[in-house]
Amino acid sequence: MSAGDVILPGATLGVLGGGQLGRMWVQKAQAMGYFTVVLDADPTSPAGLVSHHHIRTGYEDAQGLAEMARLCAAVTTEFENVPAASLDLLAQSLRVSPAGGAVAIAQDRAAEKAHFVRCGVPVAPHAVIATPEELAAVSADLLPGILKTARMGYDGKGQVRVQTAADLAGAWERLGRVPCVLEKMLPLAHECSVIVARGRDGSMVHLPVQRNLHRDGILAVTEVFEGNLPAAQTHQALTAAKSVADGLNYVGVLCVEFFVLQDGSLVVNEIAPRPHNSGHYSQDACDVSQFELQLRTMTGLPLVQPRLHSPTIMLNLLGDLWFAQGDQPVTPDWAQVLALPGCHLHLYGKRDAKPGRKMGHLNVTGATPEAVRATALQAAAILGIAPF
Ligand code: ATP
Ligand code: MG
Repeated sequence: MSAGDVILPGATLGVLGGGQLGRMWVQKAQAMGYFTVVLDADPTSPAGLVSHHHIRTGYEDAQGLAEMARLCAAVTTEFENVPAASLDLLAQSLRVSPAGGAVAIAQDRAAEKAHFVRCGVPVAPHAVIATPEELAAVSADLLPGILKTARMGYDGKGQVRVQTAADLAGAWERLGRVPCVLEKMLPLAHECSVIVARGRDGSMVHLPVQRNLHRDGILAVTEVFEGNLPAAQTHQALTAAKSVADGLNYVGVLCVEFFVLQDGSLVVNEIAPRPHNSGHYSQDACDVSQFELQLRTMTGLPLVQPRLHSPTIMLNLLGDLWFAQGDQPVTPDWAQVLALPGCHLHLYGKRDAKPGRKMGHLNVTGATPEAVRATALQAAAILGIAPF
């Protein structure tokens, strides 16, 4: 198959990882007439439950990967910590996007920061701490700061806030003296993110810039409408996201997360080499969703610029909502929420609700940003989500 060939509906496509992102990609792929394969060891994984094929092995299992290569015309990933070597192995016999090399950079905060610097996009003042010497050499200018493990962090896990040099030494000890990045604590006004999709030919499209609210290190609310951010910030975020994707020669969907500082300036936080929680609104508010973009980039289908056809707010539905009434889980009153106009419920098929676990999301659409906000606040009140 030559690089320009399009893999048309009817073919079989695969995803490494069986979480909710894989599930929503599977659902979109199937809606467009593809057959799907999920590789994930968990027999009840959200994506495995809805896929035509489910290979139940670990990400490094030679037989599992061989089976995937036999079944699929192209493979993507939905889980950030899939070993890059597994992607490289699959790439020997079929199309894999994003490439192992790009995923490897996103898996390592130190490599990721170095990439941002190479692309000329602003990053938080930081230092890599992998040795006692590097720990001792940290400049006091970086304090107070946040010590983050270089690898395997998500949803605020693997992070410790530190005030003093003594705190920092203790925190590094507690994180097991693994390679870390210390970032200066910045005065955030808010956070935003951009999702770009880049094809094999280097063409690029993007979703509108998302304005995000995090609570306890986890995304809580995403708001997207014309004017959700000052035009200069939107422009800067889009330009930076595109140069980060170009710099990686990236193929696939890439999310770039930013901090907006109180002085209005923008700093890149991190990237996710896959669809992202902050892009879920695109399922109901855009004419092309982030999952369709993922499908189009991996198959070589044309990329058309998505259009936001409704102002929207996404509320993340965490497992905490099941425990609003006490220790025993109680299913939230979905019927009451769905009585509100423009509410689109997405649940991931996870059986056990746990605090902090992403169980689903609610996309609210409507005629105006004000109407959407009023409905989203009503839904939040019903569900026990704090107002925003
Ligand atoms: P994700 O699930 O988005 O991958 P993560 O665990 O990788 O999360 P970060 O995105 O690095 O973590 O940080 C989580 C949140 O903590 C950020 O969204 C932000 O609210 C806050 N935060 C992180 N770094 C800083 C900083 N340098 N200054 C101020 N706040 C920060
Ligand atoms: Mg983050």
